[in-house]
Amino acid sequence: MTTATRPRHRTATVTPGPAILELTRLHVSHGAVSALGGIDMVVREGEVVALLGANGAGKTTTLRTISGLHRPTAGEVRFCGERIDGVPSHSVVGLGIGHSPEGRRVFADMTVLENLRMGAYRFKRLRQEDLERVFTLFPRLAERRTQQAGTLSGGEQQMLAMGRALMGRPELLLLDEPSMGLAPLIVAQIFEIIREINAQGTTVLLVEQNAAQALKIADRGYVLETGRITMHGQAHDLLDDPRIRTAYLGETAEG
Ligand code: ATP
Repeated sequence: MTTATRPRHRTATVTPGPAILELTRLHVSHGAVSALGGIDMVVREGEVVALLGANGAGKTTTLRTISGLHRPTAGEVRFCGERIDGVPSHSVVGLGIGHSPEGRRVFADMTVLENLRMGAYRFKRLRQEDLERVFTLFPRLAERRTQQAGTLSGGEQQMLAMGRALMGRPELLLLDEPSMGLAPLIVAQIFEIIREINAQGTTVLLVEQNAAQALKIADRGYVLETGRITMHGQAHDLLDDPRIRTAYLGETAEG
């Protein structure tokens, strides 16, 4: 059975876990520009949730606000029931939220190993088991451990950005456009690894323009349009929805 046809490890009949992340009437502005106009969203423990939307819809702003990189102008962010809006970003990492940012943002002049070490900065010492986990998920990073990150391919840099986020041992992993600019074969590998990370117990909030791939590995999805949630539901229902098929899966209205 191929990856594309293999059923998900969970089905809609499984009782959803408790909320790990809750966004309530969240408003965020960049100066005079309103980026989020009061969004509500829930991510439950153990889920993969896809956040879809066109360029400029507010997906990156959402992840950066969860990570403490933007302050909301109104509304709440709760992680495991506790308010975290207003908590600085370095403390958010310590709470158990990892963030693989848009554009990877690896430290180009540092080696792979040094980048991974940076991801573990919340701990006094780098734990060998964390490194082993990352190298098992991404054998390519093990091979390239002494190589400068700036010399890696785009796909390898994406793996490094995800590996670095995992070194902080997050309960919730935020992934911003992991497939951006990568060849289809590498994209398929990255999505398979996201599925594996989730199967190992990490909850995932996945921002993607590649709606088809994202919804195939997600439990649920939200659609963001100009700062507002316009649709949400089970991933398989969204995949079948004609509005999603036309707007995000490149199908014509007739077909
Ligand atoms: P993309 O896929 O292009 O990254 P996105 O859905 O992630 O899009 P955001 O980057 O969150 O969208 O942007 C949401 C809105 O906020 C857009 O109108 C964008 O132009 C604006 N914006 C984002 N960052 C800033 C900033 N630093 N200053 C001013 N406006 C910003």
